[in-house]
Amino acid sequence: RKRVMKISTGSKQFDTILGGGFQTMSISEVFGEFRCGKTQLAHTMSVIAQLPKDLGGAEGKVAYIGMSLIIDQMDAMLTANADTEGTFRPERIAQIAERFGVDPETAQDNITYARAVNSEHQMELLNKVAEYFVGNEYRLLIIDSIMALFRVDYTGRGELNERQQKLNQFLSKLTHVAEALTLLCLVEFNVAVLMTNQVQSDPGASALFAGADGRKPVGGHILAHASATRILLRKGRGEERVAKIQDSPDMPEKEATYIITNGGIND
Ligand code: ADP
Ligand code: MG
Repeated sequence: RKRVMKISTGSKQFDTILGGGFQTMSISEVFGEFRCGKTQLAHTMSVIAQLPKDLGGAEGKVAYIGMSLIIDQMDAMLTANADTEGTFRPERIAQIAERFGVDPETAQDNITYARAVNSEHQMELLNKVAEYFVGNEYRLLIIDSIMALFRVDYTGRGELNERQQKLNQFLSKLTHVAEALTLLCLVEFNVAVLMTNQVQSDPGASALFAGADGRKPVGGHILAHASATRILLRKGRGEERVAKIQDSPDMPEKEATYIITNGGIND
């Protein structure tokens, strides 16, 4: 029988506003500007998900859909971001594993990583993801980041209204996939789904992603129709970062601070 499990973020404060962590059998969207820690959170949780329950884990495997390095580099150029930090980094997994006293290689081996090369490929991977889960104890699915590939595929290409139309088509497909994932997680698999998304702060690109004002996720709330928790991340004072629940079926709209360390997300 399936039972909801909660996967820790690595920060006690962050866990508290989530009611213990990100839940299995549910789908969450974490969104925020660059460097607020979306990818670091994804890496941290990829290790913690493997840990025993008393350490905040779910004793399971992780599926991680990231993007290829070239896509990451193109996205960094498009968004005038100095660093490329969007890709999956096994060496970060090893560092985070050490914090929790886990063998780095074992931690890496328990993460199935798929690298999307374009937005269509990402959609294919999302559609196929259930196949990974059959007969395996997966407890966490990461999608980092849900809109970057679309931006690389379509920014600067064609007329604005044409791109807007493509975006609408993409979002509509994404919504269907998100709904299918939610159903799968509710009915079939005991998996927590965590998607990351950016907020649009580049005014040049904001025309494409209409409605974005720096506090809304790119493309609007992808999971608007799915049962979901949405969390806004932002930079706080100094090295501090702030997580705020924006929408949750069962938790109040509270804030928590966290930091990013060599061992991942922490208090
Ligand atoms: P996002 O995905 O939201 O753009 P990231 O998750 O990539 O952001 O976080 C980037 C931030 O994480 C940067 O500020 C970077 O300095 C910090 N960071 C990355 N690795 C480490 C580390 N090993 N120790 C401390 N901070 C780190
Ligand atoms: Mg990132």
